[in-house]
Amino acid sequence: MHCTKCTNNAVYINPTFCKQHFLLYIEKTVEKTIKRHSLIQKNDHIVVAVSGGKDSITLLYILNKLKPKLSFTLAALAIDEGIAGYRNKTLVTVNDFCKQHAISLNIVSYKDSFGKSLDKFLATTHKNTKPCTLCGAFRRTLLNKYARIYSASKLATGHNLDDESQAIIMNLLRGTPQLSARLGPQTGVIEDDLFVPRIKPLYFIPEKQIAAYSFLMKFNIEYGECPYVVQAYRGVIGELLNKYEQKHQDAKKNIINLFLKNKKKLMKLSIKHEKKVNYCNHCKEPSATAVCKTCVLLENKQYI
Ligand code: SF4
Repeated sequence: MHCTKCTNNAVYINPTFCKQHFLLYIEKTVEKTIKRHSLIQKNDHIVVAVSGGKDSITLLYILNKLKPKLSFTLAALAIDEGIAGYRNKTLVTVNDFCKQHAISLNIVSYKDSFGKSLDKFLATTHKNTKPCTLCGAFRRTLLNKYARIYSASKLATGHNLDDESQAIIMNLLRGTPQLSARLGPQTGVIEDDLFVPRIKPLYFIPEKQIAAYSFLMKFNIEYGECPYVVQAYRGVIGELLNKYEQKHQDAKKNIINLFLKNKKKLMKLSIKHEKKVNYCNHCKEPSATAVCKTCVLLENKQYI
């Protein structure tokens, strides 16, 4: 089969492009998303949350390429949760990639910040806590805190179309659709100096296209998965959506588009509940509740 733009052989079907046109298509989609949703302004300092996986490495690469054209500065921030046999490998990828592309990198660990690695928490004080509940709360806290410390005007994450459609469905099935107001290409319901706005330039790109891009670019990536991912609810929803999409093309895109059409209504609903930003009584970081989720978990209280 031939590329729809030239006579070369296609390397990807739907959209059907040769290597050169496929790579260009992905990069143009990212640029269009940034422009249409005003994700980056001139002189912004963008800190990219990077894990070493295909999404964050692709994001870092494309933003680094767009940096001179859109006039912003860029740095990377990695979180070391302390997951033996997994994170140590992906951090090598991050380190090598940042060195190769002359991108400044900071690494922050759970051990230094909270006293123990994720593995240790789960093996000792938090045997009954779901790994992703603990890990997700800790990571959100550290990303916001250190993006702020490293002077980010925006924190960019590698969330893609699959991640976002999964999050919308998860919120629906849990009976908390108002939480989806926090989703979207640019997030944050209420502005606050301690909150760093989050942007998702890969928002409209399906996971399989990012996998193809990173493969064609020959990024030296660890394709292994976190050992705790099997326990994640997100995985179940991801599988369900993948199966559904085999029969109903563009289902994930339709979920995203429907959500974006209704985001303003959801934001109104959410602002009713979150009129102002609170600060955690313990760590003083922004929090929706008197004590933030991270501090509740650190005190090892039950969190559902
Ligand atoms: Fe953390 Fe869960 Fe992601 Fe593993 S899968 S890195 S435990 S959030």
